[in-house]
Amino acid sequence: MSSRSRALPADPLTQPCPCGRLDARRRPLSHGGCCAPYLADWAGHPAPDAESLMRSRYSAFVLLREDYLRATWDSAHVPADLALDASIRWLGLEVRRHRTLGATQAEVEFVARWREAGRAVRLHERSRFERRDGRWFYVDGDIDPVPQP
Ligand SMILES: [Zn+2]
Repeated sequence: MSSRSRALPADPLTQPCPCGRLDARRRPLSHGGCCAPYLADWAGHPAPDAESLMRSRYSAFVLLREDYLRATWDSAHVPADLALDASIRWLGLEVRRHRTLGATQAEVEFVARWREAGRAVRLHERSRFERRDGRWFYVDGDIDPVPQP
């Protein structure tokens, strides 16, 4: 009896996406309507642009999806140890700029915030992405980038 009256846990696919993307009316997109399809099938349903890939990689950090991070990282740059930490509290992602540099290159500038061992961390990065065989990959990035015109 008592177990029936307990609320079911919320379906993560209907919850706001960890990446914080908003729809056209500035309401949070659900995870199922945002990054989840890419995380579920990165080869068959890859992120269509560098910003979507960047956002899905943030969600993958939040969800401890090391497999996704490795699959979307340029193989020459992926670290041996990603050191994902379940105790990190992710506070949010702000995408500041998405710049396409031709058909196969793009840059995304973002600020990500989290708390780690009681300490607030803020990462401001301009990331480089490359597209190969229809899929975008994270290459590398500049921390605290010089502003661009
Ligand atoms: Zn998302």
